[in-house]
Amino acid sequence: MERVVIIGAGVMGCACAHRLAEAGFQVTLLEKSLPGAESSAAAAGILGAQSEVAGPGPFFELCLASRERFRDYARELTELTGVSVGYEDSGVLEVALDPAEGRLCVARAEWMLARGLRVELLDREEARRLEPALTERLVGASYFPDDHQVDPVALAAALASAAARMGAVFRSGVQVKEILVRDGRVQGVLTDGGPLHAEWVVVAGGAWSSGIAGLPALRTTIKPVAGQILQLESRPPRFRHVVYGFKGYVVPRADGRVVMGSTLEDRGFDKAVTLAGLHRVAAMAMEMLPGLAETRFTGSWSGLRPATADGLPLLGLCASVAGLVIAAGHYRNGILLTPITAEVVRDGMTGKPPAVPVDDFAP
Ligand SMILES: Cc1cc2nc3c(=O)[nH]c(=O)nc-3n(C[C@H](O)[C@H](O)[C@H](O)COP(=O)(O)OP(=O)(O)OC[C@H]3O[C@@H](n4cnc5c(N)ncnc54)[C@H](O)[C@@H]3O)c2cc1C
Repeated sequence: MERVVIIGAGVMGCACAHRLAEAGFQVTLLEKSLPGAESSAAAAGILGAQSEVAGPGPFFELCLASRERFRDYARELTELTGVSVGYEDSGVLEVALDPAEGRLCVARAEWMLARGLRVELLDREEARRLEPALTERLVGASYFPDDHQVDPVALAAALASAAARMGAVFRSGVQVKEILVRDGRVQGVLTDGGPLHAEWVVVAGGAWSSGIAGLPALRTTIKPVAGQILQLESRPPRFRHVVYGFKGYVVPRADGRVVMGSTLEDRGFDKAVTLAGLHRVAAMAMEMLPGLAETRFTGSWSGLRPATADGLPLLGLCASVAGLVIAAGHYRNGILLTPITAEVVRDGMTGKPPAVPVDDFAP
């Protein structure tokens, strides 16, 4: 049995572990903290292939392919583990608050319709009929009925459980210091507890990935971009759709939690929640959904998105080091991209052609 060491047990590491263990690899996950405790636990969980992506191209296609898989993926994980990942067909409403935002909505709708995707342009009355909690100030909205949501904390828990059920071994509190390479082939990793040998190493270290010694030069480095989230609780829930604005988003969960975010901050590995950050997020949310002003505040947190210089993830086998695989740099779309990433990694390692074009993401 070929041995695989996976560095990092966020959604990427756990999803790869699940698919690789299922395919017959002997998988060990090394996690410096706790599985799923970093960016994956901080996310809002929008499966926003249409609402999040700026333009057409290979990245958009990757997002669509992953979104297409999500419903079955959620069912598969729940059947295997008993954990519901909170997959909800909530649809996403992109709200325009002034004419310039309205024009951007129309332009986006045009290229998406040309690609054959569902998007509905709504005027103020139509948008408020669909979602009565929206502000009277809006000028229009785009409705993306096929963008949905999951609960990222539940997804991360389900993925860890699925990987373990397939036989993957978790070692938490273990930090990988270096990737060991000899004669152009991976030998394993050096951890703070000593070496661990393996035929394959998968780097899924999120925002920390570029700091691991022994990595060859990659297409781009990965750096952290902090995001702050604010949570409210409303019983019964006041609205149903994910509301996406040009300054942020508000995500209603079925149980009455409302998650809203987020800031985009370049301040290294600092995960502080700040008054200025919360103020920005709260103002954005109340502008789109004024009724939230009187809703009970229940929490806030922040996380570090793994950002690349070109905005594309590093995904697949490294050409320069045999046995080295990267699954990192998914920035704002790592929850959405979980199923397709695990599939591409497994197919690359088992010699199967990828189900979608991935050349643009080559490490
Ligand atoms: C505020 C916020 C909102 C977001 N909202 C969304 C959203 O709505 N939809 C969406 O699709 N995405 C969203 N994202 C993005 C998404 O959360 C990330 O892209 C995704 O979680 C990345 O997963 P990961 O497994 O690569 O990283 P992580 O979850 O950060 O996991 C990496 C793990 O690797 C471990 N690690 C790192 N280095 C080492 C080492 N040397 N040794 C051992 N372990 C190591 C870390 O401790 C960590 O647990 C959001 C992110 C943030 C911060």
